[in-house]
Parts: sequence; C-alpha cells; structure tokens
Amino acid sequence: MHGLMMGCPLNISGILKHAERNHPNGKIVSREVTGGVFEYTYRDASIRARKLANALRNLGVVQQDRVATLAWNTHRHFELYFGVSGSGSILHTINPRLFPEQISYIINHAEDQVLFVDLTFIPLLESVYSSLNYLKHVVVLTSEEHMPTTSELPLLCYETLLNEASSNFEWPDLDENSAASLCYTSGTTGHPKGVLYSHRSTVLHAWACSSRDALGIANDTTVLPVVPMFHVNAWGVPYSATMSGGTLVLPGAGMDGNSLYELIDGYQVNLLLGVPTVWLALLQHCQKNELTLSSVENVVIGGSAAPISMIQEFKEKHNAFVMHAWGMTELSPVGTVNSMNRYMASLDQHAQYQLQAKQGRSVFGIEMKIIDSEGNVLSHDGQAFGRLLVRGPWVATSYYKHEDRSAWIDGWFDTGDVATIDEHGYMSIVDRAKDVIKSGGEWISSIDLENAAMGHPAILECAVIGVPHPKWDERPLLLVVPKEGANPTQDEVLNFLSGKVAKWWLPDSVVFVDQLPHTATGKLLKMKLRETYRQALMSD
Ligand code: AMP
Repeated sequence: MHGLMMGCPLNISGILKHAERNHPNGKIVSREVTGGVFEYTYRDASIRARKLANALRNLGVVQQDRVATLAWNTHRHFELYFGVSGSGSILHTINPRLFPEQISYIINHAEDQVLFVDLTFIPLLESVYSSLNYLKHVVVLTSEEHMPTTSELPLLCYETLLNEASSNFEWPDLDENSAASLCYTSGTTGHPKGVLYSHRSTVLHAWACSSRDALGIANDTTVLPVVPMFHVNAWGVPYSATMSGGTLVLPGAGMDGNSLYELIDGYQVNLLLGVPTVWLALLQHCQKNELTLSSVENVVIGGSAAPISMIQEFKEKHNAFVMHAWGMTELSPVGTVNSMNRYMASLDQHAQYQLQAKQGRSVFGIEMKIIDSEGNVLSHDGQAFGRLLVRGPWVATSYYKHEDRSAWIDGWFDTGDVATIDEHGYMSIVDRAKDVIKSGGEWISSIDLENAAMGHPAILECAVIGVPHPKWDERPLLLVVPKEGANPTQDEVLNFLSGKVAKWWLPDSVVFVDQLPHTATGKLLKMKLRETYRQALMSD
C-alpha cells in the first residue's frame, strides 16, 4: 500500500520561489570582477533570474540544452544557477583552472550551446574558441560600459540581455529526476568525466547540508563560500543559503588573504567554507597584520585534509571552530561533516583536536562502508582501513556519456579513498588509494605524515609522496615549502617528526622547494611530484 501523500517534485526553482516569498529582503553581497562590492536581495535576484530565463529563450535555448559558465563566485553566477536550471536547461560550470585542452574537450563533450563568461576568462576562451563545435552564443557577465572592445569573438552583454527581457516567467514544473547541472571531475589521468546532477539530488543535498549537524546554514548565518561556484556548485551553498535566507557573501575573484579579510570583517561573516590552501593565505595575512577573525564561528574545510595545526590556529587565535568535511564531485559533493556534538563537547581540548582532524560523520542520506581488497566489509573500529564505498540520493550512478562503470560495485560507489570508520561513525581518510605509500609490505599514510609535518612552525605547506626504493619498494619523501624568512633543515624537520609518527614512517629525505604543484581544484598534484622525484632514493 502506498502512502497517500503528495509527490510534489523537488525543483531548484522551488528554492528561489521559497526565498522570494519568505525572505525577500535577505541579502546577497558580491565582489565585482570590475571592482567594488555589489549588494542586493533575494527578491531582486529572483526578478533577475526570471529575466535571465526569458533571455535564454530569446537566445533559442530550450529545455535540457547545456548552458556553460566560466565564472567566479558573483551575483550574476548566482542568477545563472537558478535561471538556467530553473527553466529546465542544464548548467555546466567550467573550472577555469583546467588545461585549455580539457576545457575545449568538456565544452564539446557537453555540447554547450551558450557560454556565460567573466571578463577575466575571455583570453582563455579566445585560446580555445576555434575548437568549439556547438557553441552558438558567448555572453559576457558585465554591463555595456565594461564590454571588451578588442576581442574578435562575437560577444553579447549580460546586462543588456537582461534589460531587454521581461521579468514575467513561470518556472516550469520539471520532473525532479531531470538533469539540472553538470560538473566535470579533474582527474589526474584521462579526460575529465562529467557528473550530471538532478533537481532532486541538488535539493536533497542542499537541504541535508543546511542542517545544524551538517554545515549549519540558517537564516542568521552570514556565509562566505570561498569554494568556487565553478566546481561542484560551491558545495551547494548557493542553494542552502537561498533556502534559509542567510546572507550570502560571494568573493568574486578575490581569494587572497586581504580581500577575504575585508569581506569577513566588513560583513561580519560567521561561516566560511574552503580548501586548506585558501586558509593558509588568510591565516598568514592575519598573522602578518595582527588581525583576528572575530565574527567567524565556524570554518568548514574540505577538498584536502585539514592539518591539526590549522584547526588549532583557527581555535586559539580566532576562536573559530573548524568543521572538517569530506566529499567529492560524484557526491554533489558533501558526504561527511565533522560538526560539534555532545560526544565531541565531552572531550578535553587535545582529544577534540584529534577528533576534528577526522573527516567526520556521514550527513543523513549518505551511507558508508569500508572493504578490503577481496571485497569483505571491514568493521567500524577506527583501526581497520579499506576502500571507502558510499551510496545515497546525491551520489552519481554513472558518468555523463561515459562507458567506464568500474567505480560502481553492487549499487555502491567506490570513492578511491582509503579510510577507517570508528564506532561513533567518524570516518578518517587514510589516503587516496593511489597515494598510499607501500613500504616493505606495510602501508604509510601520506596524509598523516603531512599532517604531522604541518605542525612545524617553519613549514608553510608540504607534500609526502612514495618514491621507488631498491630495498623497501617505496619510501616516503617529504617536500617542504618553508614559511617566508624561515630556513628549516632536514634534521630539524625529522627530529620534529620523530615521536609523532612511527619510526619506520620517517621520510627518507626532506626536499625544500619554493612551491608545490596543485590540481585545478587545489589539491596537491602528487602524480607530477612522483614523476619528478622518481629516482630520488634509487641510489640508497
Ligand atoms: P573532487 O572530486 O575534486 O572534489 O575530489 C575528491 C577527493 O578529494 C576525495 O576523494 C578525497 O580524496 C579528497 N578530499 C576531499 N575532502 C577531503 C578531506 N576533508 N580530507 C582529505 N581528502 C579529502
């Protein structure tokens, strides 16, 4: 017997309609690419999103057409999130940090019809434009006065299109399982693979993530997503904030410490979200200029492991609580969040830090398990580690127009991460399966070693990789970027690490470098490092 309840479809437009009715005066703040900060309300944004929906129709865009963006976190990008998906087309957000060949590949693979581009990325677009097969229109996210005059591309102006469009638009009722947005993963090998989110998956993800036990985005939250809207929908924050009417502060192209601090202080931001490298820059800026982040209550860190030293610095210098989060493109992206709860509150400060370094418990909706190499399910005892598998309503079932199904096992998605799960449900990433260091038949976690090394006061950033070794198969090599003006030595670093990690984990060599390579999503590019340092220990 079925329940006798309405099956109203979960549509992205429903989020904006709710905002317009329930918190029309809620605020959106946006740093402009051309300078200055723009402010308006959810009501204004709704009107402009409807104009945009009409403008898309005027350009000949129909439902399910792919509409691409190459854009920063701004109010215009926010309007595209709702105007494109809400009207039934598919928003394809492009990561401008991908290689130009990858960008050209994904625009063609997605068969994008229209591309909305920030001024910053016009040179990038020009470099790939001749290879694009389906693109009919390019719209620059600016007003007439800032339109480029020298480009040879046929460019339309966003503000002009909106001015010419009516704000009368009825958001259509869409099948909640229809596609809403598309994001390509930036793997280190092969072509990027597309993850196609549905209206239902997007709404459920944003809804679950808003909860106080997850990211905690509510009406009294002022949230600054430094996570880009060009990758995995900025962790769903534009949707979550719109649901609740929290103030949404969008940083535009200003990801440096000074620009971020200005917004945080100026708008009294209490929730931050971003990858560790962004926070390194902000913390350094604060340290250098003797500033504190007095309004910030919570900092969500994900994308890569947050080192304990960073968790500690946010707490001890800024009284801000770090919520570690884990996820991936295929998970929309949030899988786990390490929010404060009764259990954590009962621990002393040291134990709390240790617990915060774990990636957290699954958000309601996501199930997790760990398996060994034979596929046996491992126990949740915090010790056993194996491949992390997940399932849930916002986990991908396949890649867009892609044959490879190797990551799916009996209805579960194999994340490619190796993890432990403890009896309280806390998941801890040991490593990416391909980054684990296999030394003499035992495994060494590169993340744990990096985490320990980051505690050294002279280390700004570091990476640990496994490199071939004649006796032990692989041994760890530590690459260190020292802080400005610091000159740590190999002995100092190794002495600092001994006692913090098992003796046989100690890196065989420490190499000091000026910078480390990162992927398009800000992760350490370990594959490149492994190539560069392949021979480093072969003469031992
Ligand atoms: P992406 O699909 O580009 O978002 O990358 C997803 C991958 O990033 C995951 O499979 C993890 O390997 C890594 N990752 C994400 N969040 C964390 C975290 N909090 N700690 C460690 N690794 C993470």
